[in-house]
Amino acid sequence: MGDLAIVGGKLISAGRQLQSDLVVSQQKILRIGRLGKKARSACSRVIDAKGCLVIPGAIDPHVHLQLTIGPGLTTNDDFDSGTRAAAAGGVTSLIDYTTPAAGQNPLSAFKARRRLADRQVNIDYSLHNVLIGWRPNWVEKIKELVKLGAPSVKLFMIYKERGWQADDGRMLAVMESCKNLGVTVCVHAENDDLIEKYTKRARQKPKSAAQLAAARPALVEEEAAERAIELAKVCGARLHLVHLSTAAAAAAVGRARRAGHAISGETCPQYLLLDKRKLSGKDGHLWGCCPVLRGKKDRLGLLVALQRGWLQAIGTDHCTFNRRQKDSWGKDFEKIPYGLPGVETSLALTFTLGPGKKKLSLAQWVKLHSEGPARLFGLYPQKGVLRKGSDADIVVWDPHQHRKIDFKDLQTDCDWNPYQAMTVRGIARHVLLRGTEIAREGKYIDSGQAGCFIRRKT
Ligand SMILES: [Zn+2]
Repeated sequence: MGDLAIVGGKLISAGRQLQSDLVVSQQKILRIGRLGKKARSACSRVIDAKGCLVIPGAIDPHVHLQLTIGPGLTTNDDFDSGTRAAAAGGVTSLIDYTTPAAGQNPLSAFKARRRLADRQVNIDYSLHNVLIGWRPNWVEKIKELVKLGAPSVKLFMIYKERGWQADDGRMLAVMESCKNLGVTVCVHAENDDLIEKYTKRARQKPKSAAQLAAARPALVEEEAAERAIELAKVCGARLHLVHLSTAAAAAAVGRARRAGHAISGETCPQYLLLDKRKLSGKDGHLWGCCPVLRGKKDRLGLLVALQRGWLQAIGTDHCTFNRRQKDSWGKDFEKIPYGLPGVETSLALTFTLGPGKKKLSLAQWVKLHSEGPARLFGLYPQKGVLRKGSDADIVVWDPHQHRKIDFKDLQTDCDWNPYQAMTVRGIARHVLLRGTEIAREGKYIDSGQAGCFIRRKT
């Protein structure tokens, strides 16, 4: 009757739990319901999911693969290794970012990025359109991008010195234009002027990666997030705040949502699990990322924000630099290549912290990784849900296995890991991309199944 059946598992999707079987046919979910013996034997393959959770493949809405940030500094994970790593961790779709040169129009940047990614990806993917600069005639380019299935843009409130910054006036102009097109504006919210001021002060301190935390205190994000939210409210734009690291910014998203505004936010495992003291330790510069790691108060506050639904998605900001690349900082905290690998370990880390410690329900955990990002970014219900007719992107998650994270076991192309030796619970036992198994027991399988660019809707 179908290509494949998954039997005996507990399905978790769309806020519900259901003990049920599931049948896949021609890349889609054909049927959900108990299967009799006869129906089972009519399927070409049966996966026994007894004792396991059956969940939608995770969607990571924030990933950087093959990203060049400077001479000789291209992230170690390219679209091939990065999507193998994603698959191994239970991620079946991701959204990467375009990389325009200053003044390059977003349509040409999008086409260039697709040429790079299309022939390499092993899972499905999409792109957010980074805007470096702004010209009124780019509205036409964005209209075209909507037609091509990429209805989101990204602005930086920082990086004035690189010419990447969208100041308040430009941010408002972009929001006003995007609102009319149904395009989501993603914003990296940090206050550039405050960073400059605190950086000057931090330079007076003894040389250490810990200066990074002093140069970018929580206020830097909190103020910028509030400002972006106010501007979005003024013009009614759809705003998404990426990689939030502070409790206050997450709470601000929650308040705006309760007041009825189309504002959303994401956080990342590193802000839920890692402390800024890592920066003071041995090889502290390895943990340099942007926003910077915070303290306990913010970690707990972010968890509360997930529990209460103030934030709708977990992304990873996956951005892999190996030791050699990180070591190029030369003891100057301003020169650390920012970024941490994360796409492969994300589900296991949040499962351990969330359902594993009863801090999040299974439904909440699943929603943050699949339905949440799918709804925010126009992939629902093709992705992000177990439902008849949806893509058969499915993870059979074994919640009983424990393992120690070791960079040597991971497919992420990196010679260290920010969570090294941390014990996590749960493993992606089977990962299906549109019905084809692409990973088993935490290892990528080369099935010949290629990833596709997914057209998103507004
Ligand atoms: Zn990022």
